[in-house]
Amino acid sequence: MQPRPTSVTPARVAVIGAGPAGLAAAARLAEAGISVDLFEASAAVGGLARSLSLWDCELELSAHIFRSTDPFVSRLWHESAGELVEISLRRGIFDGNGVTHYPITPLRILRSLGLLVSVQSAVGLVAGRLTALGKPAPENAEAWMVRTYGRQLHERFLCSYAEKLWGVPCHQVDARFPQFLFQSAGSSQEGRQSFFYPRAGNSAVWNNLSDKLTAQGVRIHRETRVNRFITDNNRVTGLVANDTQFDVDHVISTMPLGLLARLALPNEPAVAAAASTLKSRSTLLVYLMAPAGKHSDFNWLSVYPDTYRVGRITDFGRWLNRDDGNTVYCLEYWCDAGDELWQTDDRALAELACNELNRTQLVGQVTALKSHVERVPGSHPVFSLGFQSSIDCIQQHLTTLSGISSVGRSGAHGVLGMGESMESARDAADQVIGRIGQLGANRATGLTNRVAAD
Ligand SMILES: Cc1cc2nc3c(=O)[nH]c(=O)nc-3n(C[C@H](O)[C@H](O)[C@H](O)COP(=O)(O)OP(=O)(O)OC[C@H]3O[C@@H](n4cnc5c(N)ncnc54)[C@H](O)[C@@H]3O)c2cc1C
Repeated sequence: MQPRPTSVTPARVAVIGAGPAGLAAAARLAEAGISVDLFEASAAVGGLARSLSLWDCELELSAHIFRSTDPFVSRLWHESAGELVEISLRRGIFDGNGVTHYPITPLRILRSLGLLVSVQSAVGLVAGRLTALGKPAPENAEAWMVRTYGRQLHERFLCSYAEKLWGVPCHQVDARFPQFLFQSAGSSQEGRQSFFYPRAGNSAVWNNLSDKLTAQGVRIHRETRVNRFITDNNRVTGLVANDTQFDVDHVISTMPLGLLARLALPNEPAVAAAASTLKSRSTLLVYLMAPAGKHSDFNWLSVYPDTYRVGRITDFGRWLNRDDGNTVYCLEYWCDAGDELWQTDDRALAELACNELNRTQLVGQVTALKSHVERVPGSHPVFSLGFQSSIDCIQQHLTTLSGISSVGRSGAHGVLGMGESMESARDAADQVIGRIGQLGANRATGLTNRVAAD
């Protein structure tokens, strides 16, 4: 008979990344009374959802609208958000001539394209569907769009935008991207006329939440990058961050999935090969402060034509109330970290942004008084053709290693929003809580004094 343990070592859980997902995982674990160490590579919390304090106001990294119907995630966000302001939601697609409201609906297409082009598009749509009858579902974005909506709508509403965003021709983009853009995201946002925004900006949410976690006993290690895992018998038993080793029983990671796989399974060639195919695009955000003139009537405008390099414009004037008579625009450029655009100097980027904004004629002629460039590496996990099989391969190998899970936007290699990233982290935390509960039961009956296998 095994001896009954006299004292029980509390389970040690490490959470990697203090973005929305990592903070949500830590909050869930802390509420369950579990000991948590949260590791964050940068000095700030909030990850991609942080805001910037610039020119006496809080500015978001382009759009950052919080949505979640999950009770835990929604409560967590609302408890930390402070005063909220309701802002009318107006998004559109600028096609070089005019603006179509997003999400796209048949009526909006009719209004934007006019009767003749709409009829031609409808004919193209029917032709696309008839030609596809009996054929397997297309894997690439171009073929999927042509089959689902016809070539005219593909060229008008996806082709150049997808190529700008992902940096590859549309036939090299996975069909899941237009499905997400026009079906899942579109339908889930249909009918929403407004959103709630924390008056103090999104960073206030993440700072308030991290303060609360610290008060609950969560140890937040800022400027501490995790760069190695220790494993024993197919179980993660520790991690190394800033040259210090931490013993752990469970890890919930929000770092990019490919990187996690390489660090956790360094001797698996199949994992290394799959991880090398998972790429991320980066974003350059060019902020321009200018005298408030005409507003665009939109919070966010996606800019589709390839004659513009800019991909999206945020008109902060729709909800910033500056008393100095100025407003702020943000122009979003997608690129690869280190490429020619990424390396362009800030002054040239500000000039490019100002010229492009003026060329749209959406806000009159803008003369920028100040500018700021924010470089955001790895902002968009790329939907390259076949990326799902790389994810499946990595996930399959990760299941051979117990005590680790990968969650959040980059952890799932998907275009997850804040709410969805937090929900995935909450799920992982619940699984850990379940395992630790099981461990406690096992310990009470003297079955083991180590963490139970997954
Ligand atoms: C331009 C833009 C606009 C967006 N608009 C919206 C929107 O309107 N609505 C919405 O819901 N979402 C939006 N998002 C998405 C939103 O930002 C993400 O869903 C959210 O930030 C994901 O949270 P996360 O915690 O999973 O990842 P992240 O925010 O990426 O946080 C991950 C954290 O992990 C840290 N980290 C990574 N590796 C390590 C390591 N090895 N060791 C320690 N720390 C590490 C990083 O420093 C980072 O802080 C937008 C994103 C972008 C880029």
